[in-house]
Order: sequence, then structure tokens, then C-alpha cells
Amino acid sequence: MIESLYIHIPFCSYKCPYCDFVSFTSSLISHQEYLQLLIKELGLYKEESFCLKTLYLGGGTPSLIDPSLYETFLKDLSLLVDTARLEEFTIECNPETYREEEFKQIADLGINRVSVGVQSFTERGLKVLGRKHTVKDSIDCIRSAFKAGIENISVDIIYAYPNQTLKDLKEELKVLMDLPIKHLSCYLLTPYEDTLFGRLFSEEKLKLPDSDQVADMYLFWVNELQSLGFEHYEISNFALPGYECKHNLSYWLGREFLGLGVSAWSYVKNVRFGNTKNMREYAQSIKEGRKPVEYKEVLEGKSLLKDILFIRLRTKWGIPKEYAHLIPEELLEFFKSVEDGIRLKEEGMLLINEILLRIKYHALPY
Ligand code: SF4
Repeated sequence: MIESLYIHIPFCSYKCPYCDFVSFTSSLISHQEYLQLLIKELGLYKEESFCLKTLYLGGGTPSLIDPSLYETFLKDLSLLVDTARLEEFTIECNPETYREEEFKQIADLGINRVSVGVQSFTERGLKVLGRKHTVKDSIDCIRSAFKAGIENISVDIIYAYPNQTLKDLKEELKVLMDLPIKHLSCYLLTPYEDTLFGRLFSEEKLKLPDSDQVADMYLFWVNELQSLGFEHYEISNFALPGYECKHNLSYWLGREFLGLGVSAWSYVKNVRFGNTKNMREYAQSIKEGRKPVEYKEVLEGKSLLKDILFIRLRTKWGIPKEYAHLIPEELLEFFKSVEDGIRLKEEGMLLINEILLRIKYHALPY
């Protein structure tokens, strides 16, 4: 039974220099046509049964689409899958797009969570990150969503951008403390290969904070947000009690989910699969009645367990005790016991990539 559905909306009004998500600033396909393709794609999964608990409109910039188009889309969607038990319905939103009127419209459609791509609450940060909105736009956007009745608001923040200091982080914190935010995703700036920042970094034209500075910034977020009552429940994610992102939990706890749209990923019946990243191929495939899947991997036995452990080590739940023997002895100092397992301490989270490489997967019982 599939309980989580992700929908990728690949439209953006500009491309940010750090972003490696699949998104297009111009497209031959209109918003309306794309939404119709998504419905047709969902129709190709007749063999699956659905009882949706979480629905997530991600991107791209889903808030570039007029709410009235979502109304038709959601009506069509609910004819194909059971949405009566939906608990969490998120839309990602850019700060310069929706305001109170649009938020009211989407709230009427059942959307009850907004994730705002703030990235920085300082003008300098926004400039370095190539964002075209202002701090005021972000504040207005968050307050409008709240005023429209959507109280479950998350924001994305990027830290460790060039020349950022702890003083900048304090400024970020000062602004966000006064806003009705229930959830934060704080991402370390990563210069991904196929991005402008990635190219500049490889040519040594982009200087990022060193590892000690990054560690200080990471611990700043952890300590400050915890003192404000946020729980650090995944390496990059913090939530006030009861506001963990239920949709992302389905990824992190290894549950099934279906992804629709260009480049979307799914995990169903032990198979992980990904759609084509090419819009033309995507549209063609749907029109011909073929799933636009380009990549498939069966996860079973050792590969399944490895995957689950890999993901769970990033969370506050950690891994069950029976797998503790996979941790090399010299790394145990970075772990602590939790209810029925062990998890990384905060300082261990900082070393996660190194730790994941050294886990003794060969000792798994398959
Ligand atoms: S960061 Fe967001 S707005 Fe910028 S290009 Fe990526 S998806 Fe679009």
C-alpha cells in the first residue's frame, strides 16, 4: 500500500547557481499540460494500491503554478487514488510567489504545510546564493501563509556559503526567531558537479569555509535551534514537537513512496526507480502509455539493509542494536544509545560521510 506521493514540478523563474534539482526556466510544455501528464502518469500505476497519508508538491518551484490549476489537478488525482486519509499535504514555495490570497486558495484545496525556500535571512546571503528575492519577501511570504491559516510552515536555509561567518548566522537566527516557523531544513552548501558553483569550485574560483568553520556553523544551528525547542531529528532537519515532516519520514524510515514527474524517484515493492530528467522524453513516454522510468534497482538482502542503515544513521532513531556490531570499535565514541538502538551523537553527524564509508557492511547476515 503506497501512503506517500511526491510530485515534481520542474519550473523555475531562474536557475540558482548551487542547485542541482531538475528544473527549467522555459519549457515547451505549459503548466496545465504538465499537470495533465502527471495525472496520466499516475494512471499508469493501476496495479498499485494507494491510501495517501502524505502528498508533496516539490520542485522546481510549485508555487509558480496558479492555484486554480491545482484545483483541477487535485480533483483528477482524487479520482485515481484514495486521498480521504491525507494527513500532510506540502507545497514548496518560493518567497516571491504566493501571498495571502493564493495561500487561502491552496488551503481550501487541502494543502496544510508550506515549505518556503528562504535560503538566507540576510541580504548578503541571498546575493551570494544568487537569489532574486529579498529578506522582506521571505518574511511577507511566511506571514501571509500563516495568516491564510497554514500554520505548519517550514523553511530551507543554506549555510557555509563563501565568507559566511557565525555573525551572519546570528543575524539569520534573529530574524527567524520572530516568525511562526515550525520546521527548518538547514543544508550545508555543497558545490554539486553540474552547477555553476560546482564548476567555479573545481576551478578554485569559489572558496568555501574550511571544515572547522563548517563544524562551528553546524553546531551553532544544532545548539541554538535546540534551545528554541526544535528537535534535531535528521542530520539537516529540525522540528518543533509534532512537526516532523511526515512525508520525508517515509523516505528516512524506508517506507514505500511513489514519485511522479520529470526526474522523480520512487521506492515501491523493494524497487527503487527514477524517471527520465528530460522533459521531451517524459512527455513522449506518457503519451505512448509507457512509464517514464529510466533507472531501476532492486533492493534486497544486503543492498536493502545497507540502504536502510545508511538512511537511518542520519536520523535521531539511528539503527537497531542488532546492527551495532557493524560499527568499527574506534568509531563507537561517536555513537550513543537510544531506546532500542544506537545513533550518532551530534559531533558524529559531522563525520557522517567518513563513518558511512567505514561501516562493516560485509558483516551483514546475507
Ligand atoms: S534552488 Fe529552487 S528556485 Fe533555485 S533553481 Fe533550484 S529549484 Fe529553482
